[in-house]
Amino acid sequence: MDTTAHRARVIVLGGGISGLLAAWHLQRRGREVEVWEAASAVGGWAQTLAWPGPQGEPGWLERGPQGLRVAREGALARLLLELDLEPYPTGPKGPRWLGKDGRRHPGPATFGGLLRAPGLSLGEKLRMLAEPLIPARTDPDETLHAFFARRLGAGFARELLPALVGGVLAAPPERLGLDAFPRLRQLDAHGGLLLGGLRLGAERTRLLPGGTGTLARSLAERLGCVRTGTPVQTLEVLPGGRWRVRGEGLASEADAVVVALPSRQAASLLAPVSQEAARLLEGIPSLDLRVWHSRHAPVPGWERGFGLLVHPPEGRGLLGAVAFAEDDPRGVPGLLQVRTYLGGTYPVAPELDGWPGVFGELRRWLPELPEAIQVREEACPGAFPLLEPGHGGRVARLVQALPPGLHWVGAARFGPGLPELTEGLEAWAGAPLP
Ligand SMILES: Cc1cc2nc3c(=O)[nH]c(=O)nc-3n(C[C@H](O)[C@H](O)[C@H](O)COP(=O)(O)OP(=O)(O)OC[C@H]3O[C@@H](n4cnc5c(N)ncnc54)[C@H](O)[C@@H]3O)c2cc1C
Repeated sequence: MDTTAHRARVIVLGGGISGLLAAWHLQRRGREVEVWEAASAVGGWAQTLAWPGPQGEPGWLERGPQGLRVAREGALARLLLELDLEPYPTGPKGPRWLGKDGRRHPGPATFGGLLRAPGLSLGEKLRMLAEPLIPARTDPDETLHAFFARRLGAGFARELLPALVGGVLAAPPERLGLDAFPRLRQLDAHGGLLLGGLRLGAERTRLLPGGTGTLARSLAERLGCVRTGTPVQTLEVLPGGRWRVRGEGLASEADAVVVALPSRQAASLLAPVSQEAARLLEGIPSLDLRVWHSRHAPVPGWERGFGLLVHPPEGRGLLGAVAFAEDDPRGVPGLLQVRTYLGGTYPVAPELDGWPGVFGELRRWLPELPEAIQVREEACPGAFPLLEPGHGGRVARLVQALPPGLHWVGAARFGPGLPELTEGLEAWAGAPLP
């Protein structure tokens, strides 16, 4: 064995899920890797934060995903297996609602809910049932609105889609391109939402022991090469094509650099080395979400949690709320834990600037919700990249514009969902690596 062979050294910038996954794949393929993370903990948005109860009882909140959508044979399932993480099912769910025309309706995610959906004529409901007969299409610039109008009909796209998309991606379906949802393209190619779902296996929601943050913590522990509290400040290319990365009082050299930062930060870091890449990154808008966490006395019937999506802009900026099941170990025994989302691309009414206004709006939809016992705001500036129609072309130009030895990964490239990120990073790692 040649022990003198040069082992390529790579610095990964950003210790969110994208950076950790990039480092994970690189290390497994023999690279010497170092991750620089600005914050004191890894995980970026995918962190589980301590939030003790009113008497100091242990309790947590999720900064980002409350659970994981795991497809049976997807990259996320493979990753969890490799990390020896055993996700567990959420069990039967509590009620799911759609807030529309000033009142609650059954959520349209089930067949019965779809048929009882508000605002749809009989013809529009029958049109939804024709979904398996609709042929696939490959339009790279198709919007999410156009995709659902094509598959499920104009009624669904008009009456139900805005709340479903707004409550998950905080933007209207007309502004989102299908590139943000590789899974939808996959389903389309396999016969549509229903038949494709049956063929590819439905994604099931799973929880991780210790919360979603366990994923990032496990990756970082296995990697053993993550520097937290280490923000990158500058990036320069050296003679011979090597790279130098500098932070506060720290400099390090490498054969290659992987940038796994939110697009705004990535743009300013890349500007001196590739103006074109920086310009393209700046053109990816990102959304600011306002998120409130609250604890309340329990409500009969909501023992398995609840989910509410509000048809924008009826909520005046409120997009939805979701509650943990009563036995969720992240919550505090005997209390109902709720997370409420506002903002994104939707303007928030000035009255909803603080908790009293947010609670007032929540009570319009959830009159049973008692006063909060504990409240905490965890704002999420730049929570999601807005992947507009044509995003795929932008990504291709951006990747082309990167100088040799410089790589870019993240939610703005692969889509903001953790399943999309793990799929995207797995495919990235299958291509020639740094
Ligand atoms: C409220 C909310 C709910 C969500 N819900 C879901 C969900 O239900 N399902 C789902 O799949 N996804 C969900 N997401 C999205 C998902 O959490 C993110 O898309 C994903 O975590 C993004 O990972 P990332 O590594 O690309 O970016 P980030 O998580 O943004 O990581 C970037 C990292 O870079 C670090 N950094 C920044 N600047 C520097 C610097 N100068 N030097 C070094 N490091 C730096 C940051 O500290 C951060 O750790 C949600 C997100 C939010 C905010």
